[in-house]
This record gives sequence, C-alpha cells and structure tokens, in this order.
Amino acid sequence: MNAIDIINKKRLNESLTYEEIEYMVEGFLSNEVKSFQMSSFLMAICLNGMEDNEVFALTDIMIKSGDILDLSKLGSKIVDKHSTGGVGDKTTLIIAPIVASLGVKIAKMSGRGLGHTGGTIDKLESIEGFKTSLSESNFISQVKDINVAITSQTGNLAPADKKIYGLRDVTGTVESIPLIASSIMSKKIASGADVIVMDIKLGNGALIKTLDDAKRLADLMKKIGKNYRREVVCLITNMDIPLGRTIGNSLEVIEAMQVLRGKGSKDITEISVEISSHLVSLAKGITLDDARKEVEDSIESGLALDKFLELIEAQGGDIENIRKADKEISIKSNKTGFVSKIHTLRLGELARNIGAGRLNLDDKIKYGVGFALNKKVGDYILEDEELIRVYLDDIDINVKDILECFEIKEETEDLKPLIYEVIA
Ligand code: URA
Repeated sequence: MNAIDIINKKRLNESLTYEEIEYMVEGFLSNEVKSFQMSSFLMAICLNGMEDNEVFALTDIMIKSGDILDLSKLGSKIVDKHSTGGVGDKTTLIIAPIVASLGVKIAKMSGRGLGHTGGTIDKLESIEGFKTSLSESNFISQVKDINVAITSQTGNLAPADKKIYGLRDVTGTVESIPLIASSIMSKKIASGADVIVMDIKLGNGALIKTLDDAKRLADLMKKIGKNYRREVVCLITNMDIPLGRTIGNSLEVIEAMQVLRGKGSKDITEISVEISSHLVSLAKGITLDDARKEVEDSIESGLALDKFLELIEAQGGDIENIRKADKEISIKSNKTGFVSKIHTLRLGELARNIGAGRLNLDDKIKYGVGFALNKKVGDYILEDEELIRVYLDDIDINVKDILECFEIKEETEDLKPLIYEVIA
C-alpha cells in the first residue's frame, strides 16, 4: 500500500477499504504520510465525498487513535450536547446546569472559539479563577458529586482528528459533510456519553449552508452513533441571526445567567429548553412533554441558576469577578424601519477582530469585549435609536463596518423558523 495509490483511488471516486483509510490516518499521525499528501487526500474527499462505510471506517480509526473515556463507573446514563458552531451560541452554559439540576449527569468536554464562532471554554475563562482543565479523575468525581463538569479536554481523545482538523483549517477542507460528521462523532464517542443531542446550525453564520447538507450530516451522525450504541438526536436550527442578544465571552456568561433566571430572550430560551428537554427525556426515559415541564420548572424555581453557581464554585470561579471591557459605545441606527437581515458571519468576524476571538492560535482573548444587540431581525427601529452596544478594550472599531451588518427596510418580512427540524 502507498499514499499515492490511495489518493488516486479517491480522486477517481472509487471507494476505499478500512485498511486504506487506516494507512492514511495512522501514517499521517506517525509522519510517514506527509502533510501535503494528507491535504491532497482530504481535498479529494471534499470533492468526491465518501460512502457511509468509508465514513464509519474513518470515524472508527480516529476514535481508536487515542483514549476512550470510560464513564460507566458513574452508574447512570451520561448525556452530552454539541453545537456545530455559531455566533452568540452560549447554550452549553444554560443547558448543562438545567439538566444537572434535574438529576441528569452531564460530562461536558468543550472547545475554544474557532474562526468567527465562540467556544464555551473561552466564555468560562472570563470568570476569574474558573479552572477549565480538569484531570480525568477530578472531571469524573465532580460529575458524580454535582452531576455536571465542563472541561477543555481530559486525556488524549481522538488525536488523529486533532491533527487532521488543524490541516483542514488551513487547506480549505473544513466544509465536507463526511469529514465534519467523522470529526465531531469521533470526539463525542471517545468522550463517553450515552446520549448526545446535536445542534446542527444552518445559515449565514454557520458552517452548514443548506438544509440538504444539514440533513445528510444528521443522518450520518445518527448512523455513526448507532454503531457504538449511543442515542443521537439532531436538531437543525437557524443561524442566520446571532443566538440571543450578546456576542463575546463575559457578555455571553451574563446573558446565560439571565436565561437561567427566566429573563432571557425568546430564541436562546427556546433552543435551550428544547435541547435540555430531549436530554432529560432520553436520560430518564420519560416523554418529551414531561421532560419539558421539568425543565421549565427548574428555571422557574431557580434550581437551574443555583446549579450554575454551584458549577462555577466547584471549578474555582468567582462569579462576582467576571471580566469587563474598558469602555462601551452605543451605535445608533441611521434609518427608520424593520431590521430585515443581520450578516451574522460578518458580525462574528468583527467581534473576533476586536479580541472576542483569535486570529492566530496563540492570541490572547479580551474577555469583556463584544456586542449587545438592541434590535434583531423583525424588530422596528427609529433613526437615532440604539441598534447595538459595542464593548471594547484597546482595539477600536469602525462604526460603518457595524452598520453594514444590518439591513433595515420599510416592510417586514416573514421570519424563518428557529428550529427547522428535529431528527429523533
Ligand atoms: N467541528 C468539529 O469538531 N469538526 C468539524 O469538522 C467541524 C466542526
């Protein structure tokens, strides 16, 4: 076997065997297959796709490239949720305490921001003292004690995916459904949960741009889950508009607490309640309606917020000491009318440029900076009324760039649904 023959086979759209995919992935990890060969292989996959069996093989090989976390000692069904990434998506901070407050164990490994999308770990690090790097034994014992722990990663999970993802990021090979499905699922399977709810983001602020692609991704992830006896439910949700009202790390933590107090905006509350309800229903074996009632009660009674505060304290955080930006400016609308479109991807990029995310891997996040949207799609705004509030440290922003992210028209348009589909 050699890399060139395997690359050529994929280029000619022939299907590959388990052994051929293994040769490429393991060879790349041990540096026998070079980066330029792997890049070419990945591009051939992007262009020609993969059959289901090839995706299953790639996922299996990536899972076996590292440790597999054994959560069976926790004794009950363990749940996890994953979002394919969006702008203003702070749902993990809301869902994890909700389900934990209802006695469901959630062992959550989260990532940092990537490109224009934020990451839970960066958000949590905006809380002074919060430890995001737990050892495997501390991670497991915290889940045992308080039903919830959130860590950046423990152990060496799916290292092949890590190395391949790094290469995909710089070779234009991220946007491939088979590669995305195997990348996400290899990490999810290796991190040990029994029940996984996937939030597939669709729209101008997301990786996935068409409903067909979202459905194919959902179908593949459910099939992969089944191979490892994991229950996978996929939601396809709207990412044409930032989720909630804030973009930026500490701003999003504060907004998550508002949702947990029952005072969050409608979209982020609805998605959080929906995902939490699926997790609770699958973990407890109860109907979705009964689970939704438990979830709503947990918010209403304050149990979910108490669990959030318990989680922060357990991981050493001081919620009174959350990082703030140096200054804030109010940007006013230059027109009267209805907000008809938000260029969500662009807004996410502008947030990243002022320090809410990274341009280079070793950039330091400015935890307090970001945006608070006063108006969203469908809202009416008067000229000179506040459209958005910008929180800044030392990098300034061009007001025109912000205004260009919003389209304001005289007529309203029909709003797209927030949840397009639930594939249970
Ligand atoms: N997130 C991942 O972990 N992998 C992908 O390929 C895309 C998004």
